[in-house]
Amino acid sequence: MREDYDVVIGLEVHAELNTNTKVFCSCPNHFGSDTNTNCCPVCIGLPGALPILNKRAVELTIKAGLCMGCRINDIAVFERKNYFYPDLSKAYQISQLERPICIGGGVQLDSGKFIRLNRIHLEEDAGKLIHKNASIGTLIDYNRGGVPLIEMVSEPDITSADEAVEYLNKLRNNLVYAGIAECKMEQGGMRCDVNLSVKKKGSNELGTRTEMKNLNSFRSVQRAIEYETMRQIELVEAGGVVRQETRKWDDEKGESFSMRSKESANDYRYFPDPDLLSVKIERDLVEKLKAELPKLPMERRKIYLEEYSLPEYDVDILLSQKEISDFFDEALTYYNEPKTLANWIMTEVLKYVKTEEEFKMPLKAKELTEVLKMYDQKALSQANAKSLIEKLINEGGDAKELAKKYNLINDISDDAVEEALKQIIEANPKAREDYKVNPDKISTFFVGQVMRATKGKANPDKVKELLNKYLN
Ligand code: ADP
Ligand code: MG
Ligand code: ZN
Repeated sequence: MREDYDVVIGLEVHAELNTNTKVFCSCPNHFGSDTNTNCCPVCIGLPGALPILNKRAVELTIKAGLCMGCRINDIAVFERKNYFYPDLSKAYQISQLERPICIGGGVQLDSGKFIRLNRIHLEEDAGKLIHKNASIGTLIDYNRGGVPLIEMVSEPDITSADEAVEYLNKLRNNLVYAGIAECKMEQGGMRCDVNLSVKKKGSNELGTRTEMKNLNSFRSVQRAIEYETMRQIELVEAGGVVRQETRKWDDEKGESFSMRSKESANDYRYFPDPDLLSVKIERDLVEKLKAELPKLPMERRKIYLEEYSLPEYDVDILLSQKEISDFFDEALTYYNEPKTLANWIMTEVLKYVKTEEEFKMPLKAKELTEVLKMYDQKALSQANAKSLIEKLINEGGDAKELAKKYNLINDISDDAVEEALKQIIEANPKAREDYKVNPDKISTFFVGQVMRATKGKANPDKVKELLNKYLN
């Protein structure tokens, strides 16, 4: 039954922009302030208050368009989308319909498939309703009202939950890497509406779609798509018809339910906002913003895989945070061994990152490469190289100085290592006997003892060689 149908999905993704202030007033754009403290007559819609467009918000929207390969319109227009809801005290949202800032573009998936974007436009966010118990009722926090929001609308090119999640990830990574939006889904910084329809396999005619709202994690997007696909297929199979409607996803129940029949653009009576001039976007500005963009994840991925020949697994970890990728790229300028560097970062650096805090690399890229150079020159044993990294992370400062301070530099002679080993063999007659039966296990014991006696300065391979000489 499931195999007889194609799924068709289009996503509308909202992301809050990384500006200091709101989009039409100078109130702070800040999550987590006391309720109703980041508000003024403009963003709560008092009569006579006039909006003033935040230039930075326009610039970040243009940048988002450039990241996704959109065309940037010469003239952009703000329009009023009229509707009443308690979180929108003006009874209209300033948005864009006919002339958004960005047109077209899209995102390429790893399979090579291209998901087209229809547009990216700039609008204002609404306030937030806080539903309390029956005696208190619902409270309203207008702090979020007027926060700049971009809406990225895809064409209905997505055909599975996995594609939807990959598309969302790529969209988000671009925005985060370029400093456009933080996309913290748990704070509502990125939200997604899923439009979904089903059709008989191979048919060219699209089915009627439903729109699911309230999806605030990738997991709920995935689950909601799977649920809605089956609901529609079962409905159609039972002889029913899908109604065009807006549905609300309930993450706890794992079900969606109907909220209202779907409204169309006409219902909102969009018209150009008479309080705002249309915006002329100069090509010079677009070029300047383009030059400011960092290398995007897709491009880095290609370099890591093809130029540096890193395995997919490493590449995914390095790209999982911009901070890791930037650190890696910087370190490579001092130490041009991509695979070695990736290994040390993955095993010896990332384990110190505290995941519960804001992501930050725990030491300077340059200092890590100093450690690796000392290790390569055999000035540090592997154990001491690891310990030096830990000390750099705890204390900061300079790799060479810390190595001296903690006496980690390999200044031990071969004779001294041999002497230490001889003494340990003497002192452990039982281990000496066991070695004959189980050389691998017991050699680990001897190497450990020698490392301890030499404060980690001996070379373990050298110790194994000597063990062979004395015990075989
Ligand atoms: P609206 O403004 O009413 O939400 P849009 O035309 O902007 O309508 O489309 C919203 C989203 O729905 C887009 O992402 C689009 O790709 C998607 N979409 C349109 N038709 C279908 C369909 N038949 N099945 C699935 N998604 C669709
Ligand atoms: Mg819509
Ligand atoms: Zn304000």
